Amino acid sequence: MRRIYNFSAGPAILPVPVLEAASQAILELNGSGMSLLEVSHRGKDYEAIHADAKERLLRVLGLSAEEYTVLFLGGGASLQFAMLPMNFLEKDESADYVHTGEWSKKAIGEAKRFGTVNVVASSEAEKHTCIPKNYSVTSGAKYFHITTNNTIEGTEWKSYPTGLGVPLIADASSDIMAHNANYGDIDLIYAGAQKNAGPAGVTLVIARKAYLETATDDIATILSYKTHAKNDSLYNTPPAFPIYVVGQVAKWVEEQGGIGVMGQKNVEKAGLVYDTLDAYPDFYDPAVTVKEDRSLMNITFRIKNADLEKAFLVGATEREMDGLKGHRSVGGFRASIYNAFPKEGCQALADYLHDFVKKNG
Ligand code: PMP
Repeated sequence: MRRIYNFSAGPAILPVPVLEAASQAILELNGSGMSLLEVSHRGKDYEAIHADAKERLLRVLGLSAEEYTVLFLGGGASLQFAMLPMNFLEKDESADYVHTGEWSKKAIGEAKRFGTVNVVASSEAEKHTCIPKNYSVTSGAKYFHITTNNTIEGTEWKSYPTGLGVPLIADASSDIMAHNANYGDIDLIYAGAQKNAGPAGVTLVIARKAYLETATDDIATILSYKTHAKNDSLYNTPPAFPIYVVGQVAKWVEEQGGIGVMGQKNVEKAGLVYDTLDAYPDFYDPAVTVKEDRSLMNITFRIKNADLEKAFLVGATEREMDGLKGHRSVGGFRASIYNAFPKEGCQALADYLHDFVKKNG
């Protein structure tokens, strides 16, 4: 099997053992004579997969099954932008949001349809090149929302606010399981799976059970967190294949030593690239200069001489590197190096960054 260095922001690289397990399960599941794609979601084979994925995710994040529940939903993280306020925000109520980039902007935009949004901190004036450090909770706010990793801009919260006195909600779509974060301080985590947790097609919602109890009942059945919690995410037919892969990714993370080890590896991997960019300040322009806020997952940068951008991408392709083009809204380059991305690939990019300066600097 040929594998190139896939720096894509998502859908993104998956661990090879996970791909192998998934291809086997597509052919035949557990000697059942049926493919994973063919079995009933009410049958015992799928039941075991469903339960295993939930258990592993909680274990990896250091959360207890007594306190937290895992929901597998459709609609991507984008649906969560709306579903969250639908469930927890009334017209005459407000919620606090920290604005850190394109995705928080979308989350804020949706919440405004349902209640009042207090943007309690924003990095907009800094063009989202840092994580705001000063924020306070608005009196009466129903919850406090952050985006743990800003996939487009390349900033990341390395630890989450504590002691807010209101429920903390986190869009962790692009860095769930990436480092040893204080997940237990979050009341509801949501994440589209297709970056660090699996393939597109399932969204993870990991929430404190007691918090979900406080959601409204006056809502369309399918959009109610309570519906999915009560039915163990089997109210409607779940996306069995992505859920299986998410379970396999969580298993792989456990086998690697858990999120503590993942975090150490991610620091080393990202360090190889950031250090090289920083070594050539006259040539490269890393988007995020506040080092503690730099994402371990998405490294955003430019070449000072924009005329060289095309040549950089052509040369990258020659070295079997793909997906380095920056998001269409910001341009430049982005190297997404999620958990499954190998350290050798980061070294290969560092070598290329170095050689490119030698050739063009
Ligand atoms: N939040 C973040 C941080 C993202 O990176 C993305 C992009 N996938 C989304 C939300 C939207 O996710 P989805 O495409 O699953 O709706």
